[in-house]
Amino acid sequence: MPEDTSSKLFVTAIDRLKASGGRMTKKREVLLGALLTFDRPASAEEIRERAELAQSDLVTVYRNLETFENIGMLQRVLLENGTQLFELTAPDEHYHHLICRECHKTERLDLCVNNTVFNQAKKHGYTQIAHLMEVYGICGDCENSA
Ligand SMILES: [Zn+2]
Ligand SMILES: [Zn+2]
Repeated sequence: MPEDTSSKLFVTAIDRLKASGGRMTKKREVLLGALLTFDRPASAEEIRERAELAQSDLVTVYRNLETFENIGMLQRVLLENGTQLFELTAPDEHYHHLICRECHKTERLDLCVNNTVFNQAKKHGYTQIAHLMEVYGICGDCENSA
């Protein structure tokens, strides 16, 4: 991530935390710093390792990641086996991923099913509708090396 983008995200996170009644603790700061170094979604274990928070239990890491999710700056990516990955996003950005089943490489997909999903859910009487959608496959590199 380019440096000005990451420092902008950092400042935005501090602002949004404040606005939500939270604050940037030391732990959140190093987690955010670690998140900014990934150019792909990462697992809580990977983020903990990169943040050099080996002494923190994963529950604490998840809880702090949730804080970033609650302020609209973290998106979860679910792998087929149920593993959750996390990716820092600009506020309330929404997109989907194409994920390789073999190497877990992820790419952003330039499509969204929102209108269809929204209309269907509304017909069922639902409000505050959201959706998650990930697409899985085998990437070209993995296919060629098989
Ligand atoms: Zn692959
Ligand atoms: Zn969508």
